[in-house]
Amino acid sequence: MLNIRNKKQVLIASSIATLLSVLLSLLIAAFILTFFELDPSIWKVILDLSIIIPLLVASLVTYMIFDQVMKIQLAKEKIEEMGKIDFLTQIYNRGYFTDAGQREIATANRYKHSLSAMIFDLDNFKQINDEHGHVIGDKVIQDSANTINSLIRDSDIFARFGGDEFVLLLPHTDLKDAENLAERIVQAVSALTISTASSEVNITVSIGVAVLKPEHSNIDHLIHAADEALYRAKLAGRNTSHS
Ligand code: GH3
Ligand code: MG
Repeated sequence: MLNIRNKKQVLIASSIATLLSVLLSLLIAAFILTFFELDPSIWKVILDLSIIIPLLVASLVTYMIFDQVMKIQLAKEKIEEMGKIDFLTQIYNRGYFTDAGQREIATANRYKHSLSAMIFDLDNFKQINDEHGHVIGDKVIQDSANTINSLIRDSDIFARFGGDEFVLLLPHTDLKDAENLAERIVQAVSALTISTASSEVNITVSIGVAVLKPEHSNIDHLIHAADEALYRAKLAGRNTSHS
């Protein structure tokens, strides 16, 4: 498959195609001149035309074709990228997380490195929606996601799991480091406030933490372990993390 991603590559591809079409045209002209024994006085005209016509036509046509190939390719990549992203928060969505999680588990098992996971659930979020409306509720989800995102590594995989739930996968991270990070996230989110026309909204989050164990053969098992820890964090009174 052609991989044309910018105007420079369009120009290079159309130049090569034009050159090839000039060569082909010259070959055809040579064939005509040899086999039809034409008058030598028109040789120059035929040879000139066999260069000029493909130069003009092929350069224009191939440029247009490769330009369209580039646009289709970039649009396709954009659609593929959008398919991985949650619209509200612009972080990864659940589908992407599940695929990436499966790959991370395979890598962690193969190279024997640690892998931790967290699941986050905003506290009493229904109440925020009921008291301040869904627009403020959406802003709470966005600001919480941005805050968590600012505290993690580029190599971590952070996604919106749905509603007010997020998930995070931490390659090369043992349980102790994951617990420390979870505590820092709890603190950072509880320091967040969102101003509305009439009041301020305070946000807190509960977090469940789990580390990959031999019995976790897929990402659902690891997330399930984190979810059980989240349940304990909620029971413990919220605004806290558990493992
Ligand atoms: P808990 O502390 O036990 O988690 O209580 P909670 O009120 O947060 O309960 P829960 O997590 O079950 O509530 C999730 C709510 O999130 C329910 C749903 O109305 C709301 N919600 C889901 N998606 C969206 C969204 O995209 N925007 C907004 N504003 N609300 C959403
Ligand atoms: Mg909640």
